[in-house]
Amino acid sequence: MSPWEGRMARLLSALRLESIKNKIVTLAVAATLIPTVTTAVVSYAQNTRSLADQLDHELQRAVSQTALELDLWLQQQLVELAGLETSYVVSENLAKLRDGGPGRYQALSRLEEYVSAVGPRLPDFSEVLILDSEGLPVASSTPGASSGPAEAWARSVVGGVEGFGEPFIDPGSGAVAAYAGRLVRSPSRSEVLGAVVARVRFQDARRLLGEHLPTHGGRVMLVLGDGRVVGSSDPAGESTGSGAEQRSVPLPGPGQVVEYVDGGQKVLAASASVEGRHMSVLVELPRNQAYAPLHQLRNLTFALVALLLVVIGSVAYFLGQAIVRPLARLTSGASEVAAGDFSVDLPTIGGGEVNDLTEVFNDMVRHLRDGRRALDEAHEELMERNAELERLSITDGLTDLINRRRGMEILHEEVRRSDRYDIPMSLLMVDVDHFKRYNDTHGHLEGDMVLRGVSKAIKQATRGVDTASRFGGEEFMVLLPECDADGAMEAARRMRERLAREVFRGGHVTMSVGAAVYPLHADHPEGLIAAADAALYQAKDGGRDRAVLAAVDRGASPDGQDPIGSQAGGKAAGKKPSAGHRSVKKAAKKPKASKTAD
Ligand code: GH3
Ligand code: MG
Ligand code: MG
Repeated sequence: MSPWEGRMARLLSALRLESIKNKIVTLAVAATLIPTVTTAVVSYAQNTRSLADQLDHELQRAVSQTALELDLWLQQQLVELAGLETSYVVSENLAKLRDGGPGRYQALSRLEEYVSAVGPRLPDFSEVLILDSEGLPVASSTPGASSGPAEAWARSVVGGVEGFGEPFIDPGSGAVAAYAGRLVRSPSRSEVLGAVVARVRFQDARRLLGEHLPTHGGRVMLVLGDGRVVGSSDPAGESTGSGAEQRSVPLPGPGQVVEYVDGGQKVLAASASVEGRHMSVLVELPRNQAYAPLHQLRNLTFALVALLLVVIGSVAYFLGQAIVRPLARLTSGASEVAAGDFSVDLPTIGGGEVNDLTEVFNDMVRHLRDGRRALDEAHEELMERNAELERLSITDGLTDLINRRRGMEILHEEVRRSDRYDIPMSLLMVDVDHFKRYNDTHGHLEGDMVLRGVSKAIKQATRGVDTASRFGGEEFMVLLPECDADGAMEAARRMRERLAREVFRGGHVTMSVGAAVYPLHADHPEGLIAAADAALYQAKDGGRDRAVLAAVDRGASPDGQDPIGSQAGGKAAGKKPSAGHRSVKKAAKKPKASKTAD
């Protein structure tokens, strides 16, 4: 593994991205998120900019158009006022006043009559005043209504400042008003005779504020030079005529759009002054409302991205599962095979590399399974053959009894067992009588039949735990575990009886049996055989067709005779290893007393 691979593996491990499924899901999510979010951010920024431009334009349009309308409206008021200024009644009577004299009182009364008649016909004027050349009011449509600001401004009108004065809150109505004034000149226009002044109510101007609202909503307000709001298009309340607001707002500079908090709400604002009228038009648009479409777009984008993530993530998850599941099955299948279970057969669904791998895996397991089956069969056959060989190696081919070698092994085992449990065991040495003669008379094949018959008789006359083996020629060794002398003689008797019932082609045959008991007659296996051999010789010597129990060596009497006088062998046969049956034959020409069973 290269260092790069190592670093990568550590990084993936730290990010918990080792599994294929996690890698696929992460890749899918990243591939969805990165372009989508980038596009969304860029588009959001562009939309924000474009909306901001659009809002600027909207706000500027709203304030400039409203300011223009207001200006027109105010000019119209001045035109109305001009109708009074040019009236002959006004200029003539103001001239009389200037001249003084007795006509003065008549002039005053004429002027008073005039304004009283004209005032009510002008609904936007709450008061109409006529000033003399000194700026003093000489006639009023509503006598006694004039207030301080009016007088001060009236003097400035006479001084030559025509047009509108600064708007103010009319203390009487609480509504916004402004004085408008025009000079009254002599017919030659060389002399100022006085002025006509009207207190203009902005009642009707309120309608104008609502005429050019921005398309996004918001409100248009009329603001005095000091920032006091005196009228609003907001239906909730204020109007120029009935309830001017008493709050102040910062006025944005011309052409600017500013943002500030008004009434606990962020607003975008722009303003435009009503040229030369000491007031401005202000438009306020709540920021939330202005950017609502953008926020809706942003929320929609978030929702779409979230939906996309869920869909792509789910698809990636299931794709990952589709890859990981067969891999997990392969892993557990390989573990089972490694543990020796070749019955594994993994399902193959659809196509693709993993499916191909699964098919190859199944093929491999199938071959392993076939190989294992062949191996098992070969092993079983080998075992069977081994068992047969084993059986043959310990079996005598003619009689089917166990052979001498196996008989000797069992003898040694039984002697050890007898020692361990301290239980006696017996050995019978069996020899067919005059078998040479039988062979000579009836032939060897008939002789073989006799050997098989004798074997069968021995088998049938002994217990399942007893073991009969062919010792050699026509001699047999029978081992009787857990059997004392009486039991041994009883078994010998049964064997002889059983053989007596057997009729061969040459007639009946008999057997001679020598019996010895361990540890009574010998203290080792060979000694036991020798003792039984000696007893067998006794049986032959005694006339054959009988069983003789070996003699117990109780210490030789002075004349060498066995004191019991019924047993064969003794010390010479059992307690010292002898050369066997034939040597015993020679050695026992003078047998000791033995117990014989005829
Ligand atoms: P005794 O009563 O004293 O035992 O006399 P015997 O003739 O039986 O004993 P002997 O030892 O003289 O003869 C044994 C004979 O057994 C000699 C041999 O031909 C025969 N014999 C040994 N093995 C076999 C065999 O496998 N088949 C046959 N048919 N005869 C066998
Ligand atoms: Mg013999
Ligand atoms: Mg014999």
